[in-house]
Amino acid sequence: METSDIRRQLHERREQLTQRLDRIRGDRRRQTDPLAADFADQAVQRENDEALDLLDRRVHAELREIDGALARLTDDTYGECTVCGDAIAPERLDVLPATAHCAVCAPLGAPASPE
Ligand SMILES: [Zn+2]
Repeated sequence: METSDIRRQLHERREQLTQRLDRIRGDRRRQTDPLAADFADQAVQRENDEALDLLDRRVHAELREIDGALARLTDDTYGECTVCGDAIAPERLDVLPATAHCAVCAPLGAPASPE
């Protein structure tokens, strides 16, 4: 894939994620006001908050990954594993264009695919 295509793809993804964060924040504002009076409702509300927190953290992590990839494109180190320095397989970059790691160095628990 051409560098300009990768850059465009990363920027589009970044835009999607930023919009998603806005929606998460909006959902949270609606939920916290007013606080549910019923105990069962409160339990549901806490679960929703936790789910939103998790989603929020995941979206933030992906945004950081995208920013890192954009910086590496600028530095001309895009496609190199930031841990071992080996080239990341093109098939892997096709699926995970923002990844900073080759398949060997990828941290456990990292998202296997963008969605
Ligand atoms: Zn590596």
